Amino acid sequence: MQAVTQTTNLFGRRLAGSFLYALTVSAVAMPVAIWAVGLAIGPQGLREKILTHLHYDHCGNCAQLPNARIVVQRTELMAAAAPMGPAALAIGGKGLFYDRADVAELVDPLWDRLDLIEGDVEIAPGLDCVLYADTHTPGHQCVYVETEKGAAAIVGDIARKVDLNLEQAIPPAIYYDLEKMRRALADIARRADVVLPTHDWDTMERGRIG
Ligand SMILES: [Zn+2]
Repeated sequence: MQAVTQTTNLFGRRLAGSFLYALTVSAVAMPVAIWAVGLAIGPQGLREKILTHLHYDHCGNCAQLPNARIVVQRTELMAAAAPMGPAALAIGGKGLFYDRADVAELVDPLWDRLDLIEGDVEIAPGLDCVLYADTHTPGHQCVYVETEKGAAAIVGDIARKVDLNLEQAIPPAIYYDLEKMRRALADIARRADVVLPTHDWDTMERGRIG
């Protein structure tokens, strides 16, 4: 199957063994390769689910992966549990794009499967979570994966369009600290050979590594 071949290329050595990951991005614009991992092994076989952040369009359905550890930054869960959104805010509102049902699921039925990490953490050789605090969210992290074509960065919502946000260095509109956002974008541009934003449909093509 073509999609599975692409997945094997993207995740290389890790798919050669039983070391399987679901690198969670968006339910809206998940790269083909990541969908293919799920299709190939099914929800039972996924061992790790890494959440870039907890906005409602990036963290749902964790309970559908019964054997997966769920990796998220502790500061992100804390921010999601008590967001400081003004109730009158036209977009985002009091919840600031966090869904209380997602938070409730994580802190109760899924609590024992949570890996609350703090800062930069190597999940496995060639698979790193990097915290970019106070950027798109207080505890947003990116996932860097070693591939045959260099470092692929799953950047969540820190970058939404590669050309606009990285090549022209114009930050996307939603951020907590503009200076930290600019530094994060510069760091991603420096580290990554392939950048995979989750709301950029070009990711569907850019994710075809190999
Ligand atoms: Zn977001």
